[in-house]
Amino acid sequence: MMLTRLAPTPSGFLHLGNLFNFLLTWHWAREQGARILLRIDDADSARVRPEYIQDIFRSLEALNIDWDMGPSGPDALERQWSQRHRIGLYNDRLQALRETGKLYACSCSRKSHTGQNQPVCACAKEAYDLDEKGMSWKLQCGQGEKISFSDFLGHAQDYPVEDFIVRRRDGIPAYQVTSVTDDRYFRVTHIVRGEDLLESTARQLYLDKLLPEPWLSNARFLHHPLLTLPKGGKLSKSAGYQSEPLLNSMTAQEILDSFSNWRALNQL
Ligand SMILES: [Zn+2]
Repeated sequence: MMLTRLAPTPSGFLHLGNLFNFLLTWHWAREQGARILLRIDDADSARVRPEYIQDIFRSLEALNIDWDMGPSGPDALERQWSQRHRIGLYNDRLQALRETGKLYACSCSRKSHTGQNQPVCACAKEAYDLDEKGMSWKLQCGQGEKISFSDFLGHAQDYPVEDFIVRRRDGIPAYQVTSVTDDRYFRVTHIVRGEDLLESTARQLYLDKLLPEPWLSNARFLHHPLLTLPKGGKLSKSAGYQSEPLLNSMTAQEILDSFSNWRALNQL
């Protein structure tokens, strides 16, 4: 059974790029007879706000996007589907990763990872205690290792993985872990995502292979081009400068029309 997913993160109002991704996923699934899971990525609960969750359901409804599995609304999310209910599962996976001996504690702050003069993290050599407070957990990857996967259209991709964080300093499992755990748990077979997540795909495949009974190696991926803005910027999954619901400034029909143009232009 083919299963794909819509995976919004409720840390901001959805932007046009998010909606195009949902529409593309929905069209693909309905044309191919795949089922759709709605998975709301709310593990990072400090950034979640009720109005962002409302915005997800309102947007999907306005665009006539339906799904076969997952929460029917905010109450069902809270009751049954929130990632908070699967924290134990994510921690089990982190434990399994720890047992591979490939994790090391990293004391670098988030700022130093993303700053202008990006210092190279040398924490692997320091052998800090993983149980020390305030440490993030990083997964050691092979030097210059490349992960291969094929997309829906049969295009082979070859993407490098470097060491990355699997547990944040605040103890929250990183996106890579929650995403791969959920995709395994729900048995997702097809993933439609923007090109900005190519690196995530490589990381998630790498993680999956380290865990018992790899699943994602059989999954197929479609990495679509990002929506280009008039000024040349690109709307990635995480670009969140939508200050109010998009439906306040565009009608559903306008969104659907511009999606059709974008889809035709990119031959998706
Ligand atoms: Zn470090």
